[in-house]
Amino acid sequence: MEFEEKRKKLVESLKSRNILTEPNVIKAMLKVPRHKFLPEGAISSAYIDSPLSIGMSQTISAPHMNAMMCELLKLKEGDKVLEIGTGSGYHAALCAEIVAPKNSQNPGHVYTIERHLELADRAKIKLVNTGFGESVTVINGDGTLGYPQEAPYDKILVTASSPKKVPPPLKQQLKDGGILCIPAGSKEWGQDLYVICKKGKSFDSKRITGVRFVPLIGEWGFPE
Ligand code: SAM
Repeated sequence: MEFEEKRKKLVESLKSRNILTEPNVIKAMLKVPRHKFLPEGAISSAYIDSPLSIGMSQTISAPHMNAMMCELLKLKEGDKVLEIGTGSGYHAALCAEIVAPKNSQNPGHVYTIERHLELADRAKIKLVNTGFGESVTVINGDGTLGYPQEAPYDKILVTASSPKKVPPPLKQQLKDGGILCIPAGSKEWGQDLYVICKKGKSFDSKRITGVRFVPLIGEWGFPE
């Protein structure tokens, strides 16, 4: 079966499980070629709903988690997005397809930070090769510090699990009315996915579900 056909089947399955509901997220999941962000050995598993190894002991999240986070963030055209944990670059591409679709009159942008230089460099190449070179900026560094140069952000997504508290720089760099989505809890087990909305000086936090992510390592994350 061709990749596009497999991708369609995956999207249909996520829709039937009510994980994918928003038309802009569905469109992006149908369009972005997940297989092009994977290492050679994982390509045949690209459209299975499962996390996969991408090297450096890191993973690309399962497609249902990508879809869920995009929907929880209520991503829309024109949003300025900050992602912590570039990994393969796939989730950044998905966000970019939503916030800065081709020929947009009001294109948004995705800034994505990865602590492993090798992964950041690899993701950069894959993003350029798949047409996301203009709409995504990859930064190598500690994402727990955010990226103040481009703040404030409409949306922030963290794709590695934080210790209990949300890194304060990320709260500061979120726009008033903005949304942040983050897994938090222990380093390995017992993590929960939260959606946090900033309203003036207060933050409304909602627990969504139990999850399992690799740890967020950095100044406001877990120690190395
Ligand atoms: N979003 C990614 C994708 O689409 O492939 C998957 C991310 S993977 C689950 C988590 C990533 O977060 C890893 O690549 C890891 O190196 C990175 N990471 C962990 N702590 C970080 C930090 N403080 N700053 C930036 N990246 C970090």
